[in-house]
Amino acid sequence: MIFSKLIFTSLLLLTPLASFADLSIRVQLSDIFTAQKAATSHTAWESHKNHPNQALIRILSNSPNKQELCFELLRLKVENKILLYNTFKDNFLTLPLPCYTQFLNKTEFYLKTIADKLSSGRRVRTVKLNIPTEIIALDTSGGPRLVYADLPPKTIALTFDDGPSPKTTLKLLDILDRHQVKANFFSTGQNIQRYKKITAEIAKRGHFVGNHSWSHRQMSKMKYSEAKNEIIDTFDLLDQIIENWVPFFRYPYGARSKRVTQFLQSENVPQFFWAIDTLDWKYSDPKYLFKYALKQIKTQGRGIVLFHDIQPQTIAIMPALLDALRQQGFRTVAFTPQ
Ligand SMILES: [Zn+2]
Repeated sequence: MIFSKLIFTSLLLLTPLASFADLSIRVQLSDIFTAQKAATSHTAWESHKNHPNQALIRILSNSPNKQELCFELLRLKVENKILLYNTFKDNFLTLPLPCYTQFLNKTEFYLKTIADKLSSGRRVRTVKLNIPTEIIALDTSGGPRLVYADLPPKTIALTFDDGPSPKTTLKLLDILDRHQVKANFFSTGQNIQRYKKITAEIAKRGHFVGNHSWSHRQMSKMKYSEAKNEIIDTFDLLDQIIENWVPFFRYPYGARSKRVTQFLQSENVPQFFWAIDTLDWKYSDPKYLFKYALKQIKTQGRGIVLFHDIQPQTIAIMPALLDALRQQGFRTVAFTPQ
């Protein structure tokens, strides 16, 4: 025991890079990934103190040696780089790191490479299988709650939440166009306000933009009046930006509230839940996410599928996933109000 401890200590001393400072950066970074792996729900993860939006900024302000921080960031496993990607992109001004561009380029290069790799060999064979998405006119009276949405076997409705985002949403739109796929988007008021042009572009390309609250907080924990205002404000904004927005709603994290539901029902606003959760917020490794999402869809067989258009790994797997689904005889639908 003492002997092995001695070996361990001497190994630490012999490792030239293991100074106290970078060990601490390394530990702080690995705390992010440990917390993410352990998170049991999307809401638990987004509010965690080790979510990159808090932790990465904290690490940066506590690390005077930016070169050292860069060294640790650039040596991260690629799925961990992807986890930090959005925070990096969103915080250009607060993250003045010498490796800022290099970090993003490396991550984007990997995402592109893996997207090509996953698709290779599939595209050519599936051209004839590209059946355009069927648009279903939904009876919204009474504000129904949708999970399987009465879809027949091998029929799925793709939904994309939490956007729009300038990093990922436009790329997704191009992929959906190439595959003749239409989808329902559930965007937050705050992102719609930030990215009005992208929101308009989603609708222009023939998709349907619905309401995912204003601030993406859990409505089950909010005051009724506050939650109701978030819904109304988001619909008002959508109405100012696009003509063919849809009066559809999805609760952030699916966390519903009784009174809000009553309000939605009285306003004939359907509540979109999901039958198939791809957990794309959790699985940042595109190779794993591809397998996981495909397996979930095949196992469940039909219904509404939940994705997030802000996740770079989701965009990376999408061409290959759409090809694979078509090869296996799946059809897609999207919903519009009757
Ligand atoms: Zn969401």
